[in-house]
Amino acid sequence: MKKIHRLPAIDGELGWYETSPLTGRTKGDRLKGKHKFDALVIGAGFTGLSTASRLAELWPDSRIALVDALRVGQGTSGRNAGFIIDLPHNLDANADPEIDKKVYQLNRFAISRLDQIRQQNGIDCSWQKAGKYFSAHEASNLCHLDSFTRTLDALHTPYEVIEGSALQQRLGTGYYQKAVYTPDNILMNPAALAQGVALALPDNVTLFENSPVTGIEYGSPHRAGFLGGEIEAKTLVLSTNSFGEEFGLFQQRLAPVFTYASLTRPMSEQYFPGTAPWGLTSAHPAGTTVRLTPDRRIFIRNSFSFETSLRTDQHTLDRAWKQHRASFSARFPELGELDFEYTWGGMLCMTLNHQSLFQQSADNLYALSGMNGVGVAKGTYLGYYLAEWIAGRNSDELAFIRRHNQPSWVPPDPLRSVGARIRLRYESGKAAGEI
Ligand SMILES: Cc1cc2nc3c(=O)[nH]c(=O)nc-3n(C[C@H](O)[C@H](O)[C@H](O)COP(=O)(O)OP(=O)(O)OC[C@H]3O[C@@H](n4cnc5c(N)ncnc54)[C@H](O)[C@@H]3O)c2cc1C
Repeated sequence: MKKIHRLPAIDGELGWYETSPLTGRTKGDRLKGKHKFDALVIGAGFTGLSTASRLAELWPDSRIALVDALRVGQGTSGRNAGFIIDLPHNLDANADPEIDKKVYQLNRFAISRLDQIRQQNGIDCSWQKAGKYFSAHEASNLCHLDSFTRTLDALHTPYEVIEGSALQQRLGTGYYQKAVYTPDNILMNPAALAQGVALALPDNVTLFENSPVTGIEYGSPHRAGFLGGEIEAKTLVLSTNSFGEEFGLFQQRLAPVFTYASLTRPMSEQYFPGTAPWGLTSAHPAGTTVRLTPDRRIFIRNSFSFETSLRTDQHTLDRAWKQHRASFSARFPELGELDFEYTWGGMLCMTLNHQSLFQQSADNLYALSGMNGVGVAKGTYLGYYLAEWIAGRNSDELAFIRRHNQPSWVPPDPLRSVGARIRLRYESGKAAGEI
């Protein structure tokens, strides 16, 4: 059995998980003993949850296991900024308007699928159709707003350009010169949404949490090893994102880039009176993401590091915390010393050409990985259509996904790490006041 060496860790204080009303409610046991299932999905982020859920619908008489090394909501899916982005994003950009149109439709499909699960099961995850402000502080970045509006025009989607004092009134900060507001982006607590989706899984899915896969053997059946346990399954899906290459099915495709987030304590009522919760992404890819949450906290995300260990450390978390304080103070000087209650890190699993990995590796063996920082929507639709592929259902969507998700080769370490670190430093330098 091939050993899996690098395993997921907690990487800081997980703000969304700690504040989720559903924490403590998911019911996955640790995997112990020998088990047989028809299908095994490894990784219970949005991608694995979606794969298991759709497969269970298509195969109602099969038994499906979904396992995660951590608890649902503790992995990257529960650590992100909580945007479910409908539009092609700058981390997922395409030059071709026809591709953008299809990606937009798939993102909207993912939003409606998650919304349906949420509504049917009464998932309490602070879901809001709050829209998104794509914003620039520096004059040099206003051109990115213009190119975004050209994409929106081609897609015939609504937007508003807001500047100066009107923008300040909406956001409660005068930090930004100009923004493009798009109305259909969803904001939510991502740990709570992932937990809610896990709780809503069909009865023929068995969830195992706190159960790292420590060994793997491909065959008929496939075998996954755990500490004190094993699963045999005819069909195996790997949806482990940045940990994908550990399983040996593909190599030199992923660039695991850590980014960091902080969440303040809730503010008193005197601040932001009458301001609706909002979410803002930066016109520069290395810029800061900011949210005002419904429970009146400020969320900040920025800073990057490239960690081949797939874990971060205290020193890097401290450095991110300092940058978050500086970014927070620049935007909200009147909030003074309002503390961060939580600071954490998580991995954007990037690929060089921004295409995800979506592959059949052998009979009854599939992998999907590399969500490029937009995995809430993308992981949801890729997981859904992977399940359709496994069940033998063809569609135009599946054909499109298979054609356009072939990540290009990245060089091996140390070249990969050196290249990635130079690029991250260069982009951070260029982002200037957007950070
Ligand atoms: C700070 C931050 C902000 C972000 N903001 C956004 C955003 O606003 N919107 C958005 O769409 N995306 C955002 N992203 C990206 C998004 O979180 C990811 O694209 C998404 O989580 C990918 O989902 P996934 O299910 O493919 O992978 P993951 O969420 O990483 O799930 C993979 C799972 O596999 C498990 N696993 C790995 N190895 C093993 C093993 N050996 N055994 C068992 N289990 C294993 C892990 O524990 C993990 O839970 C952000 C990311 C970060 C870090």
